[in-house]
Amino acid sequence: MPARLNAVRKTGRMVSRRLMRRNSTAAMRFADAFSRFPALAGLIGTAIAISMAVLSFAALWQGRAQALQNAHQAAANLVATLSADIARNVEASDLSLRTIVSGMQNPAVMALPPDLRKLVLFDGATGMNYVGGAFVMNREGRIVVERDPSKHADLLFNDREYFKVHADHPDAGLFISGPYASRLRNGADSLALSRRIDAPDGSFAGVAVIALNVAYFKNLLSRVDIGRSGSVFIVQQDGVMIARKPALPSDGGGYVARSPTFAVMRDAPSGSYISRSPLDGVRRLYTFQHVPGTQLIAAVAPAEDEVLAAWHERSIVIGGLTMMFGGGFVVISWLLAISLRSRAIAQVKLQRLAGTDSLTGLSNRRALDRRLDEEWRRARRADQPLSALFVDVDYFKLYNDTYGHAMGDDALVAVADCIQNSAKRPGDIVARYGGEEFVVVLPGADASGALTFAERLRVKVEDLAIANSAAPRGVLTISIGIATGSPRQVEDALKLLNNADAALYLAKRTGRNRSIHEDSVASGGA
Ligand code: GH3
Ligand code: MG
Ligand code: MG
Repeated sequence: MPARLNAVRKTGRMVSRRLMRRNSTAAMRFADAFSRFPALAGLIGTAIAISMAVLSFAALWQGRAQALQNAHQAAANLVATLSADIARNVEASDLSLRTIVSGMQNPAVMALPPDLRKLVLFDGATGMNYVGGAFVMNREGRIVVERDPSKHADLLFNDREYFKVHADHPDAGLFISGPYASRLRNGADSLALSRRIDAPDGSFAGVAVIALNVAYFKNLLSRVDIGRSGSVFIVQQDGVMIARKPALPSDGGGYVARSPTFAVMRDAPSGSYISRSPLDGVRRLYTFQHVPGTQLIAAVAPAEDEVLAAWHERSIVIGGLTMMFGGGFVVISWLLAISLRSRAIAQVKLQRLAGTDSLTGLSNRRALDRRLDEEWRRARRADQPLSALFVDVDYFKLYNDTYGHAMGDDALVAVADCIQNSAKRPGDIVARYGGEEFVVVLPGADASGALTFAERLRVKVEDLAIANSAAPRGVLTISIGIATGSPRQVEDALKLLNNADAALYLAKRTGRNRSIHEDSVASGGA
């Protein structure tokens, strides 16, 4: 049905047009608010730019936290791997130690020929390349059985820490010593894993020892990529550094215990924190874990600068662009505000010009209409009277004829100034109605007040004594018609002006140079 379809389309178009109109009036109202308060454009623009910058910087800050979090996560995984490797090797060595101890306490094993006994005591794990040697020492501290032959005949080991611990503490279990320089392997850095051997009566019979090469730890750490300024290390709980990458200078002390944050590392099984290293002053993200079953702590510490390097670069670009665009946005908004302001000023000027009479500088008829309407409504609200004066220059045609149009203009300006200077209250309106006619509106003035004002004005103009030789009085005079009304009784301002005009007519008719109130018109003349 095309007819109905057409109707539907037409209705749709009408609705959308109405919507557009509503939108456009809302947009116009918005635009109007902007032109009335030009600074609004600048302020809103600045607020938007600041909000965008805050959002952008918040996102960047979040990105920083994320980068640190990722680094912690990666470090935690690395530390777990290191710790597992060390724990596995320590466990394997401990199993070997247990085998040695139980073999040494077994008379049948001890009765075996030395070669065979060695095979029983030292299992395959003691041959791993990180193991520097496996020994049994007697109660004096002398090596009695060893995996590999070495020169030790006159060496005593009873001064070693592990020896003293086992001699004094029967239940020490597995003991891992601090690093020491091996006497058997040309001073190679070693750690001793040891267990006590008991005599059948429970007394101290000696120690089983497996020496671990510190090189094992160094080798383990060398495979970890930790960046240029990062560090990774294995440290004992008492703060003695076992191995570190990068290696510390020989006078580095090996002690991290003096770091105020080391206590955190010592007391918690695992964790992470950011701290400045007391060894080289670099700020690092420390992530650590205690190696199970040992006194060792594995720690990975990438440098904060390196972790944040990519974020830093990104932040500079994004932050810079944000500042640049935000700044541009602010500048453009304020330029807009300034141009809106100058437009508004020009508009006000134009409006004022449009409402001003060019000869006398008084309000013209258009401005009179507008302002009279405003005063009328104000008087109605306040329930106050309002008086209007219709002023007309007497015999002005004669004046023009006598002195010329240019002089006529000057005379009109003089009369206009005189009227303007007489009406000084705020709200008073003085307008040139046209030709040699003026209107004065006096809000709040009642009939007698308006008449007094009119008389005073009439006398003032007469006192100007502008010669008008052709007129009966010889000087320029004015006639004034007055009307007073209360906006709650008189229907509109036009009626008031008409009444004043009627009174003026009467003033002219009854001899000119006089003021007549409409009331006297109604009561039959002046
Ligand atoms: P009445 O006392 O009855 O008012 O007589 P009148 O001569 O003043 O009245 P009329 O209306 O006959 O003449 C008004 C004169 O005012 C005519 C016109 O030339 C003159 N006029 C009007 N506007 C201007 C003006 O802007 N400049 C000059 N110089 N004269 C003007
Ligand atoms: Mg006239
Ligand atoms: Mg006149």
